[in-house]
Amino acid sequence: MHEILLYYTYTAIADPEELCRAQRVLCERLGLKGRIIIAPEGINGTVEGLVESTAQYIAETTSEPRFADMSFKRSIGTGSAFAKLFVRARSEIVSAHLGAADVNPAQITGKYLQPEQLREWIRSGKEFYIVDMRNDYEHAVGFFKNSILPSLKHFRDLPSILPRLAHLKNKTVVTVCTGGVRCEKASGFLLTQGFADVYQLHNGIVSYMEKYPAEDFLGKLYVFDGRVTMGFGRPEQNQVVVGRCAQCAEPNEQFVNCAEPSCHAHFICCAACVSAKGEAFCSWRCQLIHKARSMVEWLRLAARHAKVAVK
Ligand SMILES: [Zn+2]
Ligand SMILES: [Zn+2]
Repeated sequence: MHEILLYYTYTAIADPEELCRAQRVLCERLGLKGRIIIAPEGINGTVEGLVESTAQYIAETTSEPRFADMSFKRSIGTGSAFAKLFVRARSEIVSAHLGAADVNPAQITGKYLQPEQLREWIRSGKEFYIVDMRNDYEHAVGFFKNSILPSLKHFRDLPSILPRLAHLKNKTVVTVCTGGVRCEKASGFLLTQGFADVYQLHNGIVSYMEKYPAEDFLGKLYVFDGRVTMGFGRPEQNQVVVGRCAQCAEPNEQFVNCAEPSCHAHFICCAACVSAKGEAFCSWRCQLIHKARSMVEWLRLAARHAKVAVK
C-alpha cells in the first residue's frame, strides 16, 4: 500500500544544498517520489512511497533534532501521485517574494488554532473570520462554509488582497491553507500589517478534514500531486460538489489546463465542454485568441502553397 506524506517545518538551515543531497539519497534509497523544497528558512515536502518506506523516511528525518517536532500529514497514496523525485534548494520554502515585507515565521506568526478549537468556535457563535490563503483555483473545488476567499492567483500576490481584508483589522481572523505552511507566513504578514488578533489553522485543512470530514469544509481539497483533489470520509458523506465548470457552470471537479499556450490557466471543465480535439479553454477570450492564431497559421500555409503553385 502506498502512502503520501505532507510536511514542513520552519527552522534555520545553514546549508540547504547539503541537506538536498542527503534528502535525495534517503528518498532514492527508500524509493520515494515527490517534491521537496529546502531553503535557509526550512523544509517543505510531499512524498509518496510504500507504507514501510514512508515510515522509515519519517524515522530517519525526525532523528535529526531540528526536525524532531515536524508533523507529518499522512494520506492514502495511488502509487503514481508523482512521476519523479524533485529535491531543490530555493530562497524560500513557499514563494511569497514579499521583499521588504518578508516575514520570518520563526519570529512572527499567527497563534496556532487546533482543528478541535476551530470546530468549537464554528459551533459557539463566536465572532471570527476564516480567510482562505490558497489560490483561487484551489478554493474553486472546496472551502470552509462562510469563509472569505480572496482571489489570489499566486501566494506572492498576498499584499494585493490587503484592501479586501482591511475591515478585519480589529477582528479575530483565522487563516487557513492546505497543510499550514503558507499560513505560517500569511498570518505573520497580517500581524506585520496591523491586524490585531490573528490565528492560523494548525497543520491546515488536511488535518481538519481528517478529523471532521464532511462537516464544515464543503467539497474537496485541492492537492499538489497526481490526485489533484482529495476527498475525506465515506463517499456517501461527500456529496456536496462546490466546483463548477468554467464554461457551462454545471457542478464538476475535473481540472484541466487552458489549451491557449499564452494562458495555461488551471481550471474546472466538464467532459462535455472539452472539444473533440481534447482542447478546453478557460474563457471565450482564450478560445478566440486560439482560433485567430490557427487561422493566421492556416493563411500562412495557404500563401506558401500558392507561391509554390505559381512557380
Ligand atoms: Zn461544462
Ligand atoms: Zn485561458
